[in-house]
Amino acid sequence: MNSTKREGVLYVISAPSGAGKTTLCKEIIDIFPNLRHSVSYTTRTPRNGEVHGRDYFFVGKEEFSRMVEAGEFAEWAEVHGNFYGTSLAVLKECRSQGIDLILDIDCQGASQLKSRFEGGVYIFVLPPSIAELRRRLDNRSSDSQEVIERRIKNASGEIKEARWYDYIIVNDKFEVAVEQLKSVLIAEQCRAFRLLGSLSSTFEF
Ligand code: 5GP
Repeated sequence: MNSTKREGVLYVISAPSGAGKTTLCKEIIDIFPNLRHSVSYTTRTPRNGEVHGRDYFFVGKEEFSRMVEAGEFAEWAEVHGNFYGTSLAVLKECRSQGIDLILDIDCQGASQLKSRFEGGVYIFVLPPSIAELRRRLDNRSSDSQEVIERRIKNASGEIKEARWYDYIIVNDKFEVAVEQLKSVLIAEQCRAFRLLGSLSSTFEF
């Protein structure tokens, strides 16, 4: 079949920290072979168990600023006092190679991508309640009390941003949230505008 490859889909997933989006992203990566996780750059220090190049690329503030100046980020933002950014080169490469990419990023970055790239899918993950969010953050022993308080405070502002996302997933029961996320991905892959180009050598539309 002489068809052109479809463009890789950009899935952008945001949530207040503690809503479970990182775990959701990890789960979904194992289900879709054509889906890759975008590894961000950050100036934050690694948490226990985090691996450079797998969870993040951990860089100094100077290197991060250099990358900003050089236009190497598709988006970047300051989140909870640290800087985070997505590699523009990786994003472009995946799109052109037809590899779907999932980006676990904050609302500021998501909004930058929405105005810069077409065809992205914006998914917001909510906790069932603020009380449950606090309980989850308390159970995650890797963060200090001060960090937890700051994250709870930021959560209400972040949640307001859910309005402009394409999909909202309430992560109450994890297995249900995974099913919902899976359904979003499957449906998005079948969107006509994504497929017409690659099918046009087989069919006349
Ligand atoms: P954490 O430090 O808990 O791993 O992440 C803190 C926040 O930064 C999360 O909301 C996460 O989604 C966001 N984040 C991670 N990588 C990026 C990125 O490349 N760009 C932006 N804008 N936010 C990011």
